[in-house]
Formats: sequence, C-alpha cells, structure tokens
Amino acid sequence: MNIDVLTLFPEMFAPVTSSILGRAAEKNLINIRLTDIRDFSNDKHNKADDYPFGGGGGMVMMADPIFGALEAVKAQGRKIIYMSPRGKILDQDKISELAELGDFVILCGHYEGIDQRVIDYWDMEEISIGDYVLTGGELPAMVLIDSVARLVPEVLGNAGSALDESIYSGLLEHPQYTKPRSYRGLDVPEVLVSGNHKLIDLWKFRESLMLTKKRRPDMFDEYVKKADGLSKEQAKIVEEISKTET
Ligand code: SAM
Repeated sequence: MNIDVLTLFPEMFAPVTSSILGRAAEKNLINIRLTDIRDFSNDKHNKADDYPFGGGGGMVMMADPIFGALEAVKAQGRKIIYMSPRGKILDQDKISELAELGDFVILCGHYEGIDQRVIDYWDMEEISIGDYVLTGGELPAMVLIDSVARLVPEVLGNAGSALDESIYSGLLEHPQYTKPRSYRGLDVPEVLVSGNHKLIDLWKFRESLMLTKKRRPDMFDEYVKKADGLSKEQAKIVEEISKTET
C-alpha cells in the first residue's frame, strides 16, 4: 500500500508512523510518504497561503506550491483525495474501496482551505470525516490512513479481527472481556468461560444484534434485510430480537 500525504505540517503524522502502523511500515506492508508543501513554495519565506479573492476572513492555500508537490509525488493518473468538510462522509465502503486500490494521494488543507483550481485541475475526490470543522486536514488524513491500513492483509496480527469488528460486519460488536474473571464484584458472562464455542458464538451474535438494534436501528434493519447464510439458531435469534422492544 502506497500513500502519499501532502501537508504543511508533516510533523503531525507521528501517530501513523508508530504502533501497529509503524510495524507495518517496517515490514513494508504500507508505505506512507510525507511531503511538505512548503518545500515547493517559490517565496523566499516559504509562504504557501494568501488572502482570499473577494475578501472574507482567513487565508487560502495557494495553487502553485500544491501543484509542485503533486508533480513531485507523480500524482498524475493516481487517485487524489482532498480531506474536506464539504466532501462525502467517510464510511466503511469507501475505506474498503481505497484498501483495494492500494495507492493514492491525500492532500491536507489548512486555514480556510485550498484554491479551488487545485481541486478542479487534479480532479480530486473530497472526503469528510464528519459534520464538524477541524483546523486542518492532518487529523482527517490520519483517520483515513489508519482505517484503510488496518484492512491491508497482515497489518493486524490476527487476520480475522478486522472482519469481525463493528460496522464492517454489518453489526456493532458484542462486548469484550479479559482477565480477571471477576473484578470488583463484576463477573464475566458465564458462557464466555464455558469452553463451548458454539454457544459462545451464538452469545456474541445475540449481543451484537441487541446492541445494534438499540443504538443503530438503521443498521439493524439493513442487516435483517440482507442477512443470508445464517444458521437455524442464528435465524431464530434474529427473529426473536426483531420482535423485542428496545
Ligand atoms: N473553509 C472551509 C469550509 O468551510 O469548508 C473549512 C476549512 S478547515 C478550517 C481547514 C482544513 O481542514 C480543510 O481544508 C480540510 O482539509 C480540513 N478539514 C476540516 N474539517 C474537516 C472534516 N470534517 N473532514 C475532512 N477534512 C476537514
């Protein structure tokens, strides 16, 4: 997986170069290349922004340094994403699509955003991480990178774990417990220590369904509509939970 990130603040990217993603980079599973847009400024003070035409507060990132950075990373012909609150909201489908693609460029805006001509000329896809406004595209870019990178085979230690997780499976995940078995009078559900894997799987399935119905009824309805390949026991649980009030 190759990801080029264009930013005014490369030093902000420590979180995606350590921990699980840091190890993935060491193993060459993902290659995150950071490019400082300021390096492509023709200004003697490395200026990369200016006042907006037509007035209004704040500064706008200028086209020329961004063009220079895009050309330097050979962005032509590659998918280029501009992190932007005006974009389509990131979801698991988009994340899977990008993981499959395996090669893309991310542009992080700052201040009031970037000169529109950059977006138009390079035919960028705008992606938002939610209906709120942050000061820069660096945190959104890291959210995107982290969510895509964990779908790359072998990045997560346990290959199956990404598929079981909330959203990806179509349901919210069941509760998780670890040692000790009893903590301050709170016990782990008995079934999880029963050793009966069939019962454990059914318990997890039931908990997932109940939580999804309660917190995300939209997702629950979608799951029930599409559900196929369920065992007889699972189908019974779905039917039962569909009828219960939450
Ligand atoms: N003036 C812009 C607007 O109203 O659409 C907002 C600019 S914002 C202060 C600065 C930069 O942060 C944006 O260029 C974008 O890269 C990034 N950003 C802010 N909120 C974001 C979000 N929800 N999703 C993705 N990127 C975001």
